[in-house]
Amino acid sequence: MFYGLRAGKIGEFRVPGGPCAHCQHDGIQHVSVYGRYLHALFIPIFPVGKKAVSECTNCKKTIPKKEFSSILKQNYEKKLSS
Ligand SMILES: [Zn+2]
Repeated sequence: MFYGLRAGKIGEFRVPGGPCAHCQHDGIQHVSVYGRYLHALFIPIFPVGKKAVSECTNCKKTIPKKEFSSILKQNYEKKLSS
């Protein structure tokens, strides 16, 4: 069998996220995207689950994707599709 599932970090980027809910710092959020993907012969075919967390570059507080502000979510999705 040369296909299966692998998990790992599939991307990271810095985006403007609006004021941080924790420190109110209006700055850049560092977003890490983790996912599982199906691979064949160790070549990724498609992702089967994606999880993102964002870390405030000022206070280092991390938030899960479901708590992203609307600005952050917008910028995150723009990055993902580019
Ligand atoms: Zn913060």
